[in-house]
Amino acid sequence: GNKNINAKLVLLGDVGAGKSSLVLRFVKGQFVEFQESTIGAAFFSQTLAVNDATVKFEIWDTAGQERYHSLAPMYYRGAAAAIIVFDITNQASFERAKKWVQELQSQGNPNMVMALAGNKADLLEARKVAAEEAQTYAQENGLFFMETSAKTATNVNDIFYEIAKRLPRV
Ligand code: GDP
Ligand code: MG
Repeated sequence: GNKNINAKLVLLGDVGAGKSSLVLRFVKGQFVEFQESTIGAAFFSQTLAVNDATVKFEIWDTAGQERYHSLAPMYYRGAAAAIIVFDITNQASFERAKKWVQELQSQGNPNMVMALAGNKADLLEARKVAAEEAQTYAQENGLFFMETSAKTATNVNDIFYEIAKRLPRV
């Protein structure tokens, strides 16, 4: 039968990687060139139907600034899923993403479904992080990887859909 699943999901990653833009695209189907920086965190919810279930995502979009780091556990604790976002045009944001993965692996829910999003995939000419490098890293660390673009909507619904498919059916 069809199941209803509530899933807390957190977005983590460097400032400017595109966390808020991914959420805005997923929840409202919109994109803005000058997305305001998130202060603290913002909450959204969106429902997605997969084959055997209706998943209601309760989404925490975090700020990413170092000065808010101590707040992060409030958002990832008890989370069923996380999207760790980096900007494919920014190597430092990839390094920051790896730090978040380590933190989730040591402090997060061990059954958490983790996705690595290489965002701004529309900016191919400015790419600094090779897709193969991110893919290899993801594979070695138990995440799945997708390149996304909040601007063009590429893979945005898909990454949430992949998470929905991987959530435990209780
Ligand atoms: P956050 O700090 O991680 O929440 O990042 P934002 O969502 O605020 O995005 C930072 C900047 O990058 C904004 O100016 C966005 O318009 C831009 N941006 C976000 N996603 C994309 C994308 O997929 N492609 C391009 N070209 N720009 C993006
Ligand atoms: Mg933001």
